[in-house]
Amino acid sequence: MALLLPPLNPPSLSKMVRETGYYDILGVSPQASADEIKKAYRKLALKYHPDKNPNEGEKFKLISQAYEVLSDPKKRDLYDRGGEQAIKEGGMGGGDFSSPMDIFNMFFGGGGRTQRERRGKNVVHQLSVSLQEMYCGSTRKLGLQKNVICEKCDGYGGKKGALEKCSNCKGRGVQIQVQQIGPGMIQQIQSMCSECQGQGEKFSAKDRCKNCNGHKVERKKKILEVHIDKGMKDGQRITFHGEGDQEPGLEPGDVIIVLDQTDHPVFQRQNDNLVMKMEIKLVEALCGFKKTIQTLDNRTLVISSPPGQVVKHNDFKCIQNEGMPVYRDPYEKGQLIIQFQVEFPESHWLPENMFSKLERLLPKRDELMLTDDMEEVDLCEVDHESQSKKYSGEAYEEDEGHRTHGVQCQTQ
Ligand SMILES: [Zn+2]
Ligand SMILES: [Zn+2]
Repeated sequence: MALLLPPLNPPSLSKMVRETGYYDILGVSPQASADEIKKAYRKLALKYHPDKNPNEGEKFKLISQAYEVLSDPKKRDLYDRGGEQAIKEGGMGGGDFSSPMDIFNMFFGGGGRTQRERRGKNVVHQLSVSLQEMYCGSTRKLGLQKNVICEKCDGYGGKKGALEKCSNCKGRGVQIQVQQIGPGMIQQIQSMCSECQGQGEKFSAKDRCKNCNGHKVERKKKILEVHIDKGMKDGQRITFHGEGDQEPGLEPGDVIIVLDQTDHPVFQRQNDNLVMKMEIKLVEALCGFKKTIQTLDNRTLVISSPPGQVVKHNDFKCIQNEGMPVYRDPYEKGQLIIQFQVEFPESHWLPENMFSKLERLLPKRDELMLTDDMEEVDLCEVDHESQSKKYSGEAYEEDEGHRTHGVQCQTQ
């Protein structure tokens, strides 16, 4: 059970890595789990995809490279030990990265390589969804702008039979520019004809469709109804087949909605289980309690612990069938796991003369035999801040006069 929650203790010493560049690009720590790396890539790749952010191509590439290395345990290990240098020196089998689009399509599914010629591309959108929506189910309306075949000209672009050979490229669809790049050296640059968009043919102004201006498609708003079923998970995809941009002669691609679960203030999800922390007072930990829990569908559960049942700090208890609904089997639910946090009273909460009375009620302490060769020392509060500085070596760089002690003692 202990692995369920991040430890409450002070952070352990960092894993030793040579450099953190790839981790920084994804915004995760070198300790990140495979799931955390996946999630970070998912969010960033959708944000910086050239469809959404055409000016961030370089960033999209870096995100993809970082993910390619960190998502592969062997490459990640190589990177941790040898840094980017080790990756580039052929550790990747030639040292080449995959194309960012291939990585993206592999991750989000779709883009089917064999069909790429005949199908339009898939469009991926992220949708923020609360844990409550995933618990209760919900329907969200999403308005998307997309290209649809022009109604007026049926995707033809103008008057039937009125296509003329493009005079700019003489029907070739390409323009050739000649450039002198040095003495006696000439370079030919071939580019798509801008007059006819590489078609070789175009309509004269009078025959061109007025509705789509000859582009064959028009931009329209389309409302998609996204059904979030009970038990759906963060990162889950919902595919709308054929709802991508339309283009004459091409089968439209899909619209893929990726669910992005927002954090909940009380519950954390772990597969089909929900995990929460609950604070109880010392008296409740020792003498029993009754407490309420508000569920995600707004019911109130009452839990109780009888007197005599001791609940220790960080103890886990669970309630069967109050976790998340199981996807496609929503009457089945996971567990609700509660981690108890025992709140101890502050110092001097009881008049000093009362402690002997309290002690009589508590389990007996072990008696200590003091001998002359023992040394009595002061017990002090630990100053965490300067303690961690000392670990990373910074404290030693401060000048002698200002050096602070890691531990501050209160003298009385
Ligand atoms: Zn042309
Ligand atoms: Zn048209």
